[in-house]
Amino acid sequence: MTQTGPRIALKIDVDTLQGYLDGVPRLLRVLDRAQVKATFCCAMGPDCSGKAIWRVFRQRGFLGKMWRTRKALSVSFRTKLYGTLLSAPPIASGHPQPMRDAEAAGHEVIPHGWNHITWHDQLSRWDMERTRHELDLACRAFERVMGRKCEAFAAPGWQATDRSLLAEEEQGLTYSADTRGWKPFLPLVEGRALRVVQIPTTLPTLDEIIGRSDLRARAPMDYLADLIRRPAGPRGSTPAGAPVHVYTGHTEIEGARWADTFGSLIATLQDEGFAFVTLGELAESALQEGALDAYSVVSAELPGRAGKVSCQAGFA
Ligand SMILES: [Zn+2]
Repeated sequence: MTQTGPRIALKIDVDTLQGYLDGVPRLLRVLDRAQVKATFCCAMGPDCSGKAIWRVFRQRGFLGKMWRTRKALSVSFRTKLYGTLLSAPPIASGHPQPMRDAEAAGHEVIPHGWNHITWHDQLSRWDMERTRHELDLACRAFERVMGRKCEAFAAPGWQATDRSLLAEEEQGLTYSADTRGWKPFLPLVEGRALRVVQIPTTLPTLDEIIGRSDLRARAPMDYLADLIRRPAGPRGSTPAGAPVHVYTGHTEIEGARWADTFGSLIATLQDEGFAFVTLGELAESALQEGALDAYSVVSAELPGRAGKVSCQAGFA
């Protein structure tokens, strides 16, 4: 059945072991209270969070952004040393239970890369073989933990290349959530529309909103709620109709210090008639509606975020 009212999918990224072990159970309680279903995207391999510190030297604006968003992100001192002074512990592949608990509670669970940090920082330099290998590591680890075929993927840090999009097609995935954009589409690579439906995140993340100096006077969740009430569209457009959004939260943010505020946002949207769907349900309805448009995936800067992310062409 095609839904016509406002819809939103909650994509919850799990980037660290701490976010996985503490944040997933906390968010499961928040979502259970509201009786809404979300999609948990779990990093499967080693937690090398400590290596993210090197972005200070590589990425323009990273230090300033880190300083502005320090109130959003809750990670322990230990987490900041993983992969550097402390060895990198496995995330979901070493601890199956939180993923299984999320699925048992009715949520969707998909892999969010093998090594989140290396995918985020190095993907653009990887050849086809390396790209294929890293995707394969994540999918096979997911299958070992969940005991079923991997059918979807969410790229770490919204980093996609033509090679990673082609590797996803080789894997036979149904959909992937690698980009920022305004509506589901088919990625256009070398003049061909690939089969794997791309489900872009349509809204800014909480840390991006907090990271913007021009929004300092506004409560971040109020600003976000206003954006959610309006449909997304390509840059410079004023789209009409019922909004259909994908919001990405993080277990280290919405699953930590911001959990109660996030719960209040969900309650507000429920009061306003929003239906909560999973990314898989969005992909399914996009496929049922048929005739998905094809867009190339381009690298662009977004307000409040250091570095570039992969976007549906025309979004940023
Ligand atoms: Zn992530």
